[in-house]
Amino acid sequence: MCRAFSQPPQPLTPEERNSAIESIDRREFMSFCAKIAATIGLAPSFIPQVAEAVEGAARKPSVIWLHFQECTADSEAFLSLSYPSVEELVLNILSVDYHETIMAANGFQAEEALKKAMADNKGKYLVVCEGAIPTGTPPGPGGAKGAYCAIGGKTALDLATEVIKDSAAVVCVGTCASYGGVQAQRPNPTGAKSVGDALGIPTINIPGCPHNPVNLVGTIVNYLLLGSLPKTDRYGRPLFAYGKRVHDHCLRRAHFDAGQFVEKFGDDGAKQRWCLYKVGCKGPQTYNNCPTVEYNDSTSWPVKAGHGCVGCSEPDFWDTMQPFYERLPNIKVPGVEASADKVGLTLVGAALAGAGAHAVYTFANRGKFDETQKKEEGGHE
Ligand code: SF4
Repeated sequence: MCRAFSQPPQPLTPEERNSAIESIDRREFMSFCAKIAATIGLAPSFIPQVAEAVEGAARKPSVIWLHFQECTADSEAFLSLSYPSVEELVLNILSVDYHETIMAANGFQAEEALKKAMADNKGKYLVVCEGAIPTGTPPGPGGAKGAYCAIGGKTALDLATEVIKDSAAVVCVGTCASYGGVQAQRPNPTGAKSVGDALGIPTINIPGCPHNPVNLVGTIVNYLLLGSLPKTDRYGRPLFAYGKRVHDHCLRRAHFDAGQFVEKFGDDGAKQRWCLYKVGCKGPQTYNNCPTVEYNDSTSWPVKAGHGCVGCSEPDFWDTMQPFYERLPNIKVPGVEASADKVGLTLVGAALAGAGAHAVYTFANRGKFDETQKKEEGGHE
């Protein structure tokens, strides 16, 4: 309501206040949908359809979210989403039928909920995995394979095998489920593996430590809107999120190109927000959309906050990206750009080589979840 400037400000009526709050929420929701559309590579004209897919979600896939060896940061990241809120995601957009951290049920009731979700949605449910799966056998008498992590008396290995068997697709959130993560770091005493390696199956991977929930929602919206899971690189990462290096769209890139580097944390270069390459940034070797999507509702991300990228979305990053506070080896500075780009281009080539093979990430049951895939594979309606 427009009020004349000459009048003293009047308090809003409860109706006006509610209407204002709703309109702000709607604006923010639409801006979130714009972000999702941009993230998955759709033109702005698709924003209303994205909103419809997120709000309407007539198909409402059943989701079973499993926890293995992890720190629950991926659930934390998921729970921190504002738009859509976790309630909308869990209750309206998806049907999250089992999630150990947030479900009210526990013990036998929780196990019953899992069994029911599997039986009611056989061949159609989506499994979201968080954490690595241990495949080693603890020493001592009675040690069973994989017994380092057990839920409800079953090893993570057995539980994952049982639940994934009748699913439509598996999405791994976080680097542990995607590639083993910190748990699989040398010497890896528990024999931790990624879900894909432990079970010998293809998975869609949304790595990161933690993953960015915007990319999980983007993957789900891709399915709701386009009827298919997104194309991936050879590491199972959706190309819409992991098709470019952090370095390619970093906010400090101009300083890299100009040869302006932070030499030591806290120096003048750091205060000027110069490039963090010399203090260990692994952005030139890392594929992720952190610079454009950011974390915590687009508040910030490590490089924006002044810390170099540690390459957490790359396979085996904990072993291969160390030391975190030293620059990439064998790369000259400056003239840096050519060398760093060369490193990245090798990886770009590898990623593109895998791009056309996204169908590999379809496993036996995916056709039940993904009607488009059925048509592609069968060639018939
Ligand atoms: S090296 Fe790191 S901080 Fe520098 S431009 Fe590349 S990604 Fe950004």
